[in-house]
Order: sequence, then C-alpha cells, then structure tokens
Amino acid sequence: MTEKQLLDAQRFSDIEHNLSVIRERVAQAAVKSGRKPEDVTLMAVTKTVAPEYINHAIRCGVDLIGENKVQEYLGKKPDLLPCEAHLIGHLQTNKVRQIVGEVSMIQSVDSVRLANEIAKRSLAAGITTDILAEINVGGEDSKSGIEWEKAEETLAQLAEIEGIKLCGLMAIPPVCENSEDARAFFLKMNRLFVDIRDKKLDNTDIRVLSMGMSSDYYEAILEGSTLVRVGSSVFGKRIY
Ligand SMILES: *Cc1c(COP(=O)(O)O)cnc(C)c1O
Repeated sequence: MTEKQLLDAQRFSDIEHNLSVIRERVAQAAVKSGRKPEDVTLMAVTKTVAPEYINHAIRCGVDLIGENKVQEYLGKKPDLLPCEAHLIGHLQTNKVRQIVGEVSMIQSVDSVRLANEIAKRSLAAGITTDILAEINVGGEDSKSGIEWEKAEETLAQLAEIEGIKLCGLMAIPPVCENSEDARAFFLKMNRLFVDIRDKKLDNTDIRVLSMGMSSDYYEAILEGSTLVRVGSSVFGKRIY
C-alpha cells in the first residue's frame, strides 16, 4: 500500500469508530431525556472534509450531512453518495438561487429578508423549502441569527411566507466553561421551541430543534435537541 492508502485506511477506521461512539452517546442522552434513540437525528458536519471521507461516513450509515457554504457543497455534491443534506452556514441572499432545491432544508435562516428570497426562488422552482430559524440565543455580536428579543415576532412573520415551511429552530450557543452554563442556553431554546410548536401556526411543521455540536451534543439532547450537528468528533480536527 502507498502512504496515502495507509493514511486513508486509518482515517476510514477512525470515522467508523467515532460514529459508533457518538451514536452510543446520542442514544444514552436520548433515553436519559425520556425519548427513544431514533428521536434524535445525528448530522455529520462535512465542512472542509473531502468527498471520499464524507462517503465513508455515509457508508457507515450517517443519514444526514450538513454543509456551511453553498459553493463548497455544490462543488462536492457530484462526488457524494446519495444522502440527505442541509445547509447550516450563514447564507447570503445572492447565493439563494444556487442552493434552493439542492438541499432538503436550510437551517440558517436569520432574517425575514433572507426568508423572502428563499421563498421567491422556491416558488419560481415550483417547490416549498423547509427552513429552520437560527436564533442568536447568546446575544453575541460575532454570531448571526435572529435576536432573542425579536424571536417570537420574527417566527410569526416567517410562518406567513408562502414558498417556505418553518420546521423549527437552530442555535449555536456561546462557548461555555462548564456544561451547566451550556444547558441553560439549550433549555432557553427548548422553551421557545415548545412555545412555538404549541401555537400550531398555519403553514408550519415545528418538529426540529437543531442544537448541539462536538463539545456539547450530550447536554443539548438532555435539554430536548432533536438534531445534533457533529463535525470534528466524526472526522477529526478540521484543516482549513
Ligand atoms: C462547524 C459547525 C458544526 C460542527 O462543529 P464541531 O464542533 O466540529 O462538531 C455545527 N454547526 C455549525 C453551524 C457549524 O458551522
């Protein structure tokens, strides 16, 4: 074997091992939160990862992948095995046309303006695009997302737009020193999620609470996450 083949073999077996460890912890947290393991979806976040390794994760049974950038995803897509994909990174309105119809959900909708653009392009393509509203739960200037104070009002506006379907919420809480602090943000998100779900707004299908990454997916599930987005714990440290 060449050196590249040896390294790949190692990386493939790491990915397989990592996924089985993560699946086990996801299942444990789901049960601990009073749900079934299958109630929590594991997304493999594939930014910076080459298609051959993403495909290995898909072969290992990952049923959802997440990409941050439109260009990066569209560039890799022809080389990927069939797999459901969501966009999870900040989306500029001028990229909307290219991504509508290419992913099954856009998780990173952070303004009514962006939602209107997605709706317009979806209607033109004869489809409805499933979306999540990204909430800036920690009020951080460095992060995109709808302001916490404007969340309810904005969600009601999103629900009214034809061409998109609001399916839930997404958040990236601040980096926390300890798991208690992290859990407080996740709890806050879960309250908003339950609140909006119970309102049963027309034209919505509130079923996804996307929160939890490599460092905190266990805590996120304990607080009600239905979809965790895990990157580096699956594929190893990202090399940019
Ligand atoms: C990169 C990224 C993740 C995954 O982060 P890890 O810490 O590598 O698990 C999850 N969600 C979003 C929005 C990301 O950009």
